[in-house]
Parts: sequence; structure tokens; C-alpha cells
Amino acid sequence: MPVWQAPSFLFIVMGVVIVVIMSVVYLITQKYDAPEVLILSEIAIVTLLFTVGNFIIQSIEQMAKTNKMKSEFVSIASHQLKGPLAQINWEVELLLAKNREGLNEKQCAIIKRIADSNERMARLVNDLLDVARIDQGSLVLNQERFDLLQLVKKVVENNRFLAKANNVEIEIVCKENQKIVINGDRRRIGIVLDNLLSNAIKYINRKGLVKIKIVKKKHEVLVSVKDNGIGIPLWQQDNVFEKFFRSANASRYQITGTGLGLYISKNFVEKSGGKMWFKSEENKGSEFFFTLPLEDN
Ligand code: ADP
Repeated sequence: MPVWQAPSFLFIVMGVVIVVIMSVVYLITQKYDAPEVLILSEIAIVTLLFTVGNFIIQSIEQMAKTNKMKSEFVSIASHQLKGPLAQINWEVELLLAKNREGLNEKQCAIIKRIADSNERMARLVNDLLDVARIDQGSLVLNQERFDLLQLVKKVVENNRFLAKANNVEIEIVCKENQKIVINGDRRRIGIVLDNLLSNAIKYINRKGLVKIKIVKKKHEVLVSVKDNGIGIPLWQQDNVFEKFFRSANASRYQITGTGLGLYISKNFVEKSGGKMWFKSEENKGSEFFFTLPLEDN
């Protein structure tokens, strides 16, 4: 959209027009006493304001329409991609599980790399689908009872390999034998935990420690994921939960990512009745927090 059609620009124009018009009317009323002059100038003002206002409304409508089309396109494209990706996954797994005999080690390694890339692509497609659902306001969460601590342990186990490869230790801090029952979308909360934990591991960039702390309160549970990694520059911290945000230092260290995980996670948490926030210092580390209401609420 050209600048002169952008709503914010048109609002400024409208403001300037109103100031100019008011000054002109003031001058006219000072100079002429005749009511016809006043009526005519008021008609002219109303027409002008109506035209500019109409232009602003039209450009806002146009923007909303473009956004809707964009998010519908992403949604349809992602849905269409899911089928072929699942098929590739199925075939590759079959090849590695059942038809391995005819393959040498090098061929197996290549197929394994294809499987890894396919999994990454499937995750990206799922992320894009979730973004489209959030943007269209059609995100629906499941409701089921689950133990948060068990889920945290499962997510930690799934990230063990990544942690080992990055020389990172993971520690869970929680009162022993606690049951923390949540009534919510287990899969989505698992995605939130996975995003925070895999980020903490990814953005450490040296030997490090990630601490996951779970504190049960009266009406909610507070989860925090703390790392001693690269941190987020202060000047970029206001944008962290925006779609496609990537910090300057993450790109500098060439740590790969899409900038969708935190946007999706914050939306999942808020839709579940919780809150998400963080604190971070560049080159010292970051701590991400989120809360979830407990079941008895
Ligand atoms: P991705 O990690 O795929 O880029 P996210 O939405 O999860 O996307 O994160 C957005 C950005 O926020 C990252 O690219 C990174 O710059 C920054 N970030 C997130 N978590 C951390 C962390 N624990 N430490 C430092 N930077 C982080």
C-alpha cells in the first residue's frame, strides 16, 4: 500500500485539514457577518471531512481484506503441504525400518538427513497453520486434565539429544511428589514448553545450564525457563513476541529459527487463561515465564 493511502498518514492529513479549516472559518467569521457565508463554509467543511474520512475507512477496509487473504492463503497452502510431508515421512520411515538390508551406511545417513529435514519442514508447516488460526481468530483449544510435571519431564526427555549436542545441562526445580493438575490443551502446552526449552538450549551457544522451575500457587502455576545464554539486546526486547521476530545477536551467531515459536506460545498461553513474559540481558542470559490457571479454578 502506498504511503499516501496508509491510515496513519491519512489521520495526520485529516488532523492538519481540521486545523486549517478551523483557522479559515475563524478568519471568515471575523471578516463577514453574513450567515450565508458561514453556512456555505460549513457545508464545504463537512464535505471535505466526509471525503477524507471515507478515504480513510476505505483504506482500512482494504488493509483488513489484504490481511485476511494473506492468512487464508497461508492456511490453505499449509494444509495442502501437510499431506505430501506426511507421505514422505511414512515412506522414509518404512525404508529405514523394513528395507534397510540393501542399504549401506552412507545411504542410511543420507536418508536419515532427509527424514530430519522433512520433520523440520512439517514443524514449520504446523507453525504456519497455528499462526493462520491465531490471525483468523479460529484457534480452538482442547480441554483435558493432565499433570503438568509429567508433561515437563516428557518435554525435557525429548530435548535431551539437542541438549547433549549443545553441551547443555537441564535441571528441573520443583517440590517433590507434587501433582499439578491443569485442565487445558496438553499438546499445545507441550509445544509452549518445547519452544521455551529448545530456545534456551539453542541460544546458549556454549557449555551451559537451563533451569526449569515450577511453582504451584493458590490459583495458578508459574513456570520459568532460565538460561545463561546470549540474551536479547535491550533495544529489541519490546518486539520479542512479534511474529517473525529474530534478534540481531541470534542472526549474528547464525542460530537458525523462524521467529514464530514465541508468538505462537504467548497466544496459546493467553488463550489458556495465563500470561507470558520474560527478562533478559545480552550476554548474560534470559528467563521466560508463564502462568496457567489450576484446575480447581
Ligand atoms: P526462533 O527461535 O525459531 O527464531 P522464537 O519465536 O522462538 O523463534 O524466538 C524469537 C527470537 O527471540 C529468536 O530468534 C531469538 O532472537 C530470541 N530468543 C528467544 N528465546 C531466546 C533465549 N532463550 N535466549 C536468547 N534469545 C532468545
